[in-house]
Amino acid sequence: MKKNLFFKVFAILLIVCSLFIFTACNNGDGDNNDVPFTPADHSNALTPKVVLFIGDGMGPNHTYNTELYAGESMYFSSFATKTKVETNSLSGLTDSAASATAMATGKSVYNGTIALDGKTAIMSITELAKRDLYGAGVVTSDEITGATPGGFSAHAKSRNNSAEILLSQKDSPIDLLIGAGSYSDVYTNLFVEKGWTWVESKANLTTERKRFVATFDEVTYADGTDTAPTLTELATYAIDYMELNYPTGYFLMIEGAKIDKASHSNDVSEMINNHLDFDRAIKAVDLKLQAQSLGYSLIVTADHETGGIQKAETIEQITDDLYTTTNHTATNVNLYFKTTLTTVPERLNKELISNTEVFLLCKELLSIA
Ligand SMILES: [Zn+2]
Repeated sequence: MKKNLFFKVFAILLIVCSLFIFTACNNGDGDNNDVPFTPADHSNALTPKVVLFIGDGMGPNHTYNTELYAGESMYFSSFATKTKVETNSLSGLTDSAASATAMATGKSVYNGTIALDGKTAIMSITELAKRDLYGAGVVTSDEITGATPGGFSAHAKSRNNSAEILLSQKDSPIDLLIGAGSYSDVYTNLFVEKGWTWVESKANLTTERKRFVATFDEVTYADGTDTAPTLTELATYAIDYMELNYPTGYFLMIEGAKIDKASHSNDVSEMINNHLDFDRAIKAVDLKLQAQSLGYSLIVTADHETGGIQKAETIEQITDDLYTTTNHTATNVNLYFKTTLTTVPERLNKELISNTEVFLLCKELLSIA
């Protein structure tokens, strides 16, 4: 009798263990690189692939002046759907942390806060996407611990506490985090312990299924090198990675960070060069997505306007003097939308939306509950 019971318990334990091992080998978190990956079914999503481009500090006049300078329209200016986005935070005039939080989580917060409501973490679109077995990633020309990438990959009390943001990013479920910055082994080793790969050169980027962080000396706008690639190179790489590993659906946030930085210093030529690379990245991503067969949507917007830049009437007038402040302004920013859908989501028919609606739009497109 006792022997029988022992065998029964043993058999049950064996079954439970096998189930556990089976589940562990098939989870979507990417710690195990040797197991073939079965893509999840996202055929019920409106568009299973969504790329959100954020031009940090990119107001309507930044785009207008860059087009005047270039003598041609931006690629994204031709997108069929356009609306405006209101950017204020609970503090009033927003910073990038509160604005990123609004777009990533759908919640308005006070400036400086990264995806936290008081002390409570607010689920972001990348976390929701991973929960629903999508691929998810963040690409920026800023340091990876910057406020905008932080909003989509971390929860932190202060945008100024890079260590707090980095340690939170270590626990993020996203597949890739790419940008600039140099971080000590103390931190990178913690990521490796959590199953991430950490690379610091373009040559070491891989499209194999591994969760990874890639950091570079800088992300430039021209003549990318192994340790200083362009945003366009990194954005197209991220699409290749997702197409290989998550061909049925993914969410990417790609930030052109330096339109803001150049505008804080009232450097119009630096602003234009970075704005043009941001546009090249969008075009390159769109061309890659056009070549695949599933539905996709591209959202191009900004977190706020920086510099209060005025419109130039002639090329000669495009000088640093067009700026009226070194701070952010409350000017509404534009949102440009391109999709394979025949009917665009209802909220985009409004002339002005809140930045929290960018989150709702991404959720709706991916059919995330
Ligand atoms: Zn700024």
